[in-house]
Amino acid sequence: MKLEALRIPAPLRGFAAGDARVFDVTLDGDKVAAIVPSASQTQARGTLLSALVEAHAHIDKNYTVQEVGAAQGNLFAAIERMEKHRAGWTGETLRLRMERALHDAWQSGTRALRTHIDWVQPEPPAALAVFEALREEWRGRIELQFVSLTPLDVFADLAAGERIAGEVKRAGGVLGAFVYRNEGIVHKLGRVFDLAQQHGLGLDFHVDEGLDAEATGLRSIAQLVRARDFKRSVVCGHCCSLAMQDAAVANETLALCAGAGIHIVALPTTNLYLQGAWDRTPVPRGITRIHEAAARGLRASLATDNVQDAFYPYGSYDLLETFGLGVQMAHLAPAGDWLDAITVSPAKALGLAWDGRIAPGCPADLVLLAATDEHELVGPRGRERTVIRAGRILEKTQ
Ligand SMILES: [Zn+2]
Repeated sequence: MKLEALRIPAPLRGFAAGDARVFDVTLDGDKVAAIVPSASQTQARGTLLSALVEAHAHIDKNYTVQEVGAAQGNLFAAIERMEKHRAGWTGETLRLRMERALHDAWQSGTRALRTHIDWVQPEPPAALAVFEALREEWRGRIELQFVSLTPLDVFADLAAGERIAGEVKRAGGVLGAFVYRNEGIVHKLGRVFDLAQQHGLGLDFHVDEGLDAEATGLRSIAQLVRARDFKRSVVCGHCCSLAMQDAAVANETLALCAGAGIHIVALPTTNLYLQGAWDRTPVPRGITRIHEAAARGLRASLATDNVQDAFYPYGSYDLLETFGLGVQMAHLAPAGDWLDAITVSPAKALGLAWDGRIAPGCPADLVLLAATDEHELVGPRGRERTVIRAGRILEKTQ
């Protein structure tokens, strides 16, 4: 297959482009065989991306908003509502909504997805067995990873933490926690690091998801990575409170994060919807310091988080939509220069075999967007796409 006259955004190029900006790409079987500058450099027919990578989702809770109701921006009300709803979760209902999420992501061009799974007690949740079955069924289409999502305070109970970490290890997952202004935060986080080190697990936190400047979980995590010489991947989602802190303090934390090799994930839809006032216009907004992180070589990922549940009652698994909101939310311009946020950066955070840079020999897992230039990237027409997986065009089934 030959794909002609396509822009390949700079952060996705794994080849020397010289001055060229428009390329012809030849596929051979399931690989990219060759990339050469197009004869005409002025007229592109579209934009070529590597298949998208979803760094942070919750496929156990999505599509429940009609039953639980939207919590209209109150994070802790949403947690409470989901808690009540969770008591009625069965393998059957979980499978239906988890599959729906995967089909949506697949059609949108997603090649890998990491979901958090609510895990509030020592015993593994019903969603884990469903996830493990789906991980097998979807192998070769979407590479699936999971993170246990446990309130940090649960780890104060040594036996509970041990049970969770042991089960996460058995099921090939990543250890996680919800961290927000907990009492004894450093000690409890230390326990999570102990467990990760004993069981050989990566870490993925929901951290500082609020507009309270006093929330400094991210800094504690970065300090622990360094103090422990922790070598496995550490992902930190949200980090909203960074935006509320003095620039000097926030920059110091980001310097610690960069030194510790932490991956930051921003969640535009849920962060904007959950953070900020609801009785007046919300100023300030929920956001993390994406530019200041990038200035330290720490390229944040953008991810979807909640879809149609108590936390965020709208949305879909189209990462290009999330990206478009991220561009507006954080002034990620020119937009083409930030497309690594849904491709290369999350691929690194998730430790995928392919980093998502397009080059001869890389997998022919690609998304061909209609956008012929930078300015069409975030509009609905420019987002129209052809998904190519293993060198074949994916037919739309919906
Ligand atoms: Zn989340």
